[in-house]
Amino acid sequence: MNDEDRKILEEKIEELEGEIHELEHDLIHDYLTGLKTRAFFEEEIRVYLEAISQNDRGKRKEWFGFKNISVVFFDIDHFKQVNDNHGHEIGDKVLKTVATAIKESLRSGDTAARWGGEEMIVSLLGANEEDAKQKAEEIRSRVGELNFDGGLAVTISAGVASAQKEELLENLVKRADEALYNAKETGRNKVITHSELAGQ
Ligand code: GH3
Ligand code: MG
Ligand code: MG
Repeated sequence: MNDEDRKILEEKIEELEGEIHELEHDLIHDYLTGLKTRAFFEEEIRVYLEAISQNDRGKRKEWFGFKNISVVFFDIDHFKQVNDNHGHEIGDKVLKTVATAIKESLRSGDTAARWGGEEMIVSLLGANEEDAKQKAEEIRSRVGELNFDGGLAVTISAGVASAQKEELLENLVKRADEALYNAKETGRNKVITHSELAGQ
């Protein structure tokens, strides 16, 4: 192979590596919001929960340095009305902006994902329920301050749950969802933790 051919080959390889990198990125990111996909989120939390359980049983294999993990479900309030009154394009813009506000409020290592529709979920590593509630309140208030064209503003509701001993992902997410449902039922634009439900 002469120098000219080698140069062409090297450029082609570089181009293909770039494409592979992009495909890998697309596989784990939601195309609209740029948040992680639900599948990525679920896989990541499963690994963390397993590590915490192993540690509790004294059989540590993989360890990430935290004993608590909390998740928060966020859902935009009356989002259907945003679409109905302002159009789907503005709806998409609101969703993207809210997603960015959520992501930017997190510490590195924490993950924000699009669960589906206008429902987003975050993982907070090392956070107990109280820490997670505080973070969720911070995000709720930040989103409430966003201003969109035409004087449009939105609010979000949130449900918080912290992992219990040996808890599986499905149950943790279910408890956060129950708390979110309660936040919606009791007026929206608020954060409810799963322990708060027990007192009702
Ligand atoms: P609630 O306060 O109870 O959450 O009311 P809501 O209207 O937000 O709830 P609902 O789940 O009934 O409606 C969600 C709406 O979100 C309906 C759907 O059209 C809209 N939606 C879901 N995904 C997208 C999206 O990607 N873009 C846009 N623009 N809208 C979306
Ligand atoms: Mg909603
Ligand atoms: Mg919804």
